[in-house]
Amino acid sequence: MVYTGRFAPSPTGPLHFGSLLAAVASYLDARAHQGRWLLRIEDLDPPREAEGATDNIVRTLEQFGLHWDGEVIRQSDRHAIYNDILLQLTSNGAAYRCSCSRQQIHKRSNSSLYDRYCRRHPPTAKTRCAIRIRCDRDYPFDDLIQGYQQFSDQPEDFVIFRRDRFFAYQLAVTIDDEAQQISHIVRGSDLLDSTPKQIHLQQQLGYRQPVYAHIPVATNKRGQKLSKQTLAPALDEHKALQLIIRALDFLGQQPVAELTDGTIEECLSWATAHWDIAAIPKQTGIILEES
Ligand code: GLU
Repeated sequence: MVYTGRFAPSPTGPLHFGSLLAAVASYLDARAHQGRWLLRIEDLDPPREAEGATDNIVRTLEQFGLHWDGEVIRQSDRHAIYNDILLQLTSNGAAYRCSCSRQQIHKRSNSSLYDRYCRRHPPTAKTRCAIRIRCDRDYPFDDLIQGYQQFSDQPEDFVIFRRDRFFAYQLAVTIDDEAQQISHIVRGSDLLDSTPKQIHLQQQLGYRQPVYAHIPVATNKRGQKLSKQTLAPALDEHKALQLIIRALDFLGQQPVAELTDGTIEECLSWATAHWDIAAIPKQTGIILEES
C-alpha cells in the first residue's frame, strides 16, 4: 500500500500552534514512510470561516517549509459528490430525515443523545430536516498513539447533513479520505470520538479503513484546547524554525540543540530521519499563552 497522509484544516482563522502540531506530525509521518502528504481545505461551513483564511493557511504552510503533494482540494468544490452519496445513503435506507431540534431531543430524553425519534415518526416531506445515518453499534479501533479505543457511550444516529443545509464534517471527511486514498490519518485527539463515526460511514459505503494516529492536543494555561475560540495566537512566520522545534519537542522527538542554528529544511529533514511515532506522548501537554 502506498502511504498517503493529509492535513485537513478548516479555514476558521489562521493556523495556531495546535494546528502546527497536526501539520508537522502528519507531514513527518508521511515523509518518514516516503509517502505522499496532501492538503485539503475543509471549507464546509461558510458562516464559521474567516475571510482570507485559506490563502493564509496555504502561505503559512509554505513559510514553515511544509510542502504538500499535488493540488489543494477544497471541500466547497465537492458538494455534488457529497450530494450523490447522501442520496445513495437515503435511498438504500441507511440514512433518514430528522426534524428534531436540540431542545426537542433534550426535552424527550433529558440528554443530548439522539433518541432516534424520526426513525419511527418520519417527518412530512415539507419539513426542513437534517439527515442522520442509522448507527446501532460501536467501532473499537487501534490507534497508533492512543492505543485501543472503545467508547462506552451508546452509538448514536449522527447527522450527515445539517438542518441548515450544510454537509456535515463526518460525511465529507469520510468521502474525501477515500477519494484521496488516504492510508494514514494523523490528527488531534480532539477528533478521537469522531473516528468510530467515520469508520461506520466507511463500512456503509464499502470504503477501506485508514490507520489512525491521534496526537495529544495542546492546551493553554487554563487547560483549554488551543483554537480560534480560545484565542490561540496565529503562528508567527518570523519564528517558524523556533516553532517547529517546539512542535518537535511537544511531540516527544527530542530535537537536538544544533537545529536552532540551521534552516527549516535542515530541521525538517533531521526530524524526518529521526521520526519516532512511539515517542509521542498520549496526554495533553500544557503550553504557555505567549507561544
Ligand atoms: N477539519 C478538521 C479541523 O480542522 C480536521 C479534520 C481531520 O483531520 O479529520 O479540525
